[in-house]
Amino acid sequence: MAEGVRNLVARDDVAAALRFDGGSPLFNLLMTKGARGRGSVERLIDDERTLSFLSRSFGMSEDDLCEDIGVIRAQLIEIREAAEAIIGYQIFNRLEVRDQALIGVDVLNRITASGVSKRRLGVDLEGQIVVVTVSSPFEAKVAEVAAEVSEILLDGEKRARVKVCANEACRAPFMDRSPTNNRVWCSMAICGNRAKAKRYYHSLK
Ligand SMILES: [Zn+2]
Repeated sequence: MAEGVRNLVARDDVAAALRFDGGSPLFNLLMTKGARGRGSVERLIDDERTLSFLSRSFGMSEDDLCEDIGVIRAQLIEIREAAEAIIGYQIFNRLEVRDQALIGVDVLNRITASGVSKRRLGVDLEGQIVVVTVSSPFEAKVAEVAAEVSEILLDGEKRARVKVCANEACRAPFMDRSPTNNRVWCSMAICGNRAKAKRYYHSLK
C-alpha cells in the first residue's frame, strides 16, 4: 500500500473517533472498529465511549441500562466481531474468517433469544391484550442488530448494498443507502476526500 494512503487515512484521530454514519445500527456498531487496513483500532475504548455509542446509535441513555456498562461494552464488541465475521464470510467470501463466522452464528442466536424471545402477552389495566417485553432495553436493541444480519442475508437488494470502503487503510463495512448504490467510500468526507487529495497531490508531482 502506498505510504501516502496510509498516512492520509490512518491518522490516529480519525482512526479512533466514533462514527455514526454506517447507514444503520448494525453498521454503526461495525464502525466502532477503525483502520482495519492496518490491523484495526478499537473505538469503544471505555465507558464514556460506550455510553456515547448507546446514546447516538441506539437512542439509549445511562438510565435505560439494567446492566453494568463494562458488560455492555464487552457484549457490543462480541456482537460486532460475530456480525463482521458472518458478513465477511457469507457476503465477501473471506474464507479466513469462516471459523469465527460459524462461532458468530451461536453468538447472534443467543443475543436474539435473550432479546426477542422474552416477549410475553399481558393484559393491561383496561383489559387490552398487550405485548410485554421482559428483556432489558439493551437486550432488545442488540437483538434488532442481530436481526439486521439475518435480513441482509435474506434480502438480495440489501445484500448488494453492503460494501467495504475502497480506502485500503480503512476497509470499513458500510451500508450504501445512496439511490444509485454506487458509493465506494464509507464516507466521502473522511475517505473520499482523502483519496481525492492524494490524487491531486500525485498530479502535482
Ligand atoms: Zn473508509
